[in-house]
Amino acid sequence: MAGGGNAIRGSRVGAGPMGEAERGEAAPRQRVVYFCAHEHESVITFAVEATIPESWDCPRCGLPASLDAENPPPPPKIEPYKTHLAYVKERRSDAEAKEILDEALQTLRAKRKSGEIIF
Ligand SMILES: [Zn+2]
Repeated sequence: MAGGGNAIRGSRVGAGPMGEAERGEAAPRQRVVYFCAHEHESVITFAVEATIPESWDCPRCGLPASLDAENPPPPPKIEPYKTHLAYVKERRSDAEAKEILDEALQTLRAKRKSGEIIF
């Protein structure tokens, strides 16, 4: 017959011993890993109640990153400005378009090598 009070305490579900126990601590977090086309693994921390987005901009290179390591989103086309020449090139062939993209990627890599972080 040790008082009913003790028996009830801790056996209740729902009305919150779980939640209340964490009072005073940092809000619970969840860590999510995103993968970009550059094979960066970015750990993003969300509050547990947050909805996890399917994609996130890679904090290291700015490309879109997804939750699927095997299948990161492709880098978007980089088109700073469209000059007349760019228009002409664009209309010529995919091969040339790829060349333009490669150039842009090389610039990006060179910048990263120099330690510049692009957000
Ligand atoms: Zn990245």
